[in-house]
Amino acid sequence: MEALLKKIQNSGYDVTYLSGQDAISLWEEISKNVAETEREKALCLLISSEYLNHARLYEQSIQQLHHALQLISDDEDEHHIELQLSIKQSLCECYIATRQYALALAEYVLITKLAMQHYDLDSHASAIIGMGRLCEHFGDYNRAIRYYKKIDHIDHALSSRNVRLQYKLYKLGSYIRLQRYKAAQALLLECEELSILVNDKLLNGKVLLYKARLYRFKGKLTESLNVLSTISYTLGAISDNWFACACRIEQAYCMSHLNKPHLAIYLLDNAHHKVANFYHPKLKIDLYNAYSDLYTKSRQYQQALRYEKLAFECESELISLIPIAELGANQLRRLSQLDLQLKLILSEIENRELKETTETQRNAVAQLQQDVFTDPLTQMHNRRWLDSQLKDMLLHDTNFAFLIIDIDHFKSINDDYSHLVGDQAISRVSMEIRHYFNDEGQHWVRFGGEEFLVIIENKSLAEVNALAEQLRHNIAQTDWQHMLGDRQLTVSIGVTLHRVGENTQRTFNRADKALYRAKANGRNQVCYEE
Ligand code: GH3
Ligand code: MG
Ligand code: MG
Repeated sequence: MEALLKKIQNSGYDVTYLSGQDAISLWEEISKNVAETEREKALCLLISSEYLNHARLYEQSIQQLHHALQLISDDEDEHHIELQLSIKQSLCECYIATRQYALALAEYVLITKLAMQHYDLDSHASAIIGMGRLCEHFGDYNRAIRYYKKIDHIDHALSSRNVRLQYKLYKLGSYIRLQRYKAAQALLLECEELSILVNDKLLNGKVLLYKARLYRFKGKLTESLNVLSTISYTLGAISDNWFACACRIEQAYCMSHLNKPHLAIYLLDNAHHKVANFYHPKLKIDLYNAYSDLYTKSRQYQQALRYEKLAFECESELISLIPIAELGANQLRRLSQLDLQLKLILSEIENRELKETTETQRNAVAQLQQDVFTDPLTQMHNRRWLDSQLKDMLLHDTNFAFLIIDIDHFKSINDDYSHLVGDQAISRVSMEIRHYFNDEGQHWVRFGGEEFLVIIENKSLAEVNALAEQLRHNIAQTDWQHMLGDRQLTVSIGVTLHRVGENTQRTFNRADKALYRAKANGRNQVCYEE
């Protein structure tokens, strides 16, 4: 993608701030005049299909995606498979938007096969989510949960936090539909933790929406309304029609329970107006059911019946379109057969870290220039270094701990003082970390923008915790006056120990979890996971 962007820039095209037909035409131009390889042409088609979807030109989008697949179908190159999987995912979304559910299912099945061959657990999980959603469309939430549960045992190995949050949210939605509130409540907590580190407004919004719904079911209407009314304050505007309507329906139920039917009707009418502009059958059914519920409460049975009928019509139509027979025991069995393959992939990933450390590779690594492993801003190690370091430690059975250090509310430093000052702050924090962890067996990595990973060898959890706490204290006590004026800078730290024989991704996830807690508990603190 980067190579293509460079070519586009050199050709004088500007792809920023574009939308609608302008964007579609421009990407067509680029695919004709700039893209050179089949892969680049396929990428252009994928991008322009997103704009077509936005304009609800799904059939055209489907054609483009098919064309893109043809362009790269013969190639077994790893990167092409990745692109193929993304294109297929988009294709499924188009099929669902055009009610071609059987085609979507067939594509999901192909994705799970392809993803499995290429060890792409995230795509595998996304396809299973798709199948679960089809069951939800049919109204079979128990079956949907059986699909989502197929992801449970690879949860720790998924590399995308978004996919992890997505599958948990769908599962949560189904628990709520089935009124399994205890399970839902536990899952909601997991989603809340995970959402702190996911930068996706819609997903974060969904977490709050479900939180509100659970409050309502417990009869805590004020709490529910409070959560709903804070969504736009805490997350900013979310321009998603589905989400806006779902929130209105939720508010309407609360108003109805509070004996304010006029407000409830107003909210539902508002949602109705929006629903008319796009196709989302499940939402329509929810809306009609909400109307019917409301009219029943106010004893307007004729109206209630009218909406019940509308909901029923929508439901019957959906039921007739969903290929439920193909989503039955056979499909679930097929996925179970993949479980063994999945286990192999998981242990393969764990083993690969060890296996790859052959003599030749170690020599090659030694020859690489120092700067290949160094982050230019902070002079800390980078992720590339981390991979080889972890392999080495696993090979030598070294005991170690992970500390993930994340600057609190860093975005506001960028926003209030500029990116340049942000960079200086990152640099200063990294200096503190480097000076503090200066002993043998202590390593530091700039892991993301304002996130650092420290590895500490051969210390107990209590010792590591104490070190982390002291570092946190030092940073909080540092004089930031010359850089940030009155504003103080703090960090949150998640700590955990590596367990013998464990995949390091799992260790990382545990430290990440501790970090969520530190953030959720109010930041400027150290939390650990045993
Ligand atoms: P939290 O306390 O939850 O961690 O809040 P936060 O604002 O620190 O977290 P978030 O992950 O939302 O924001 C991180 C920001 O860091 C977003 C991004 O713009 C900024 N950033 C990432 N890399 C760099 C960089 O190299 N330099 C600068 N100046 N900013 C960066
Ligand atoms: Mg941060
Ligand atoms: Mg961060």
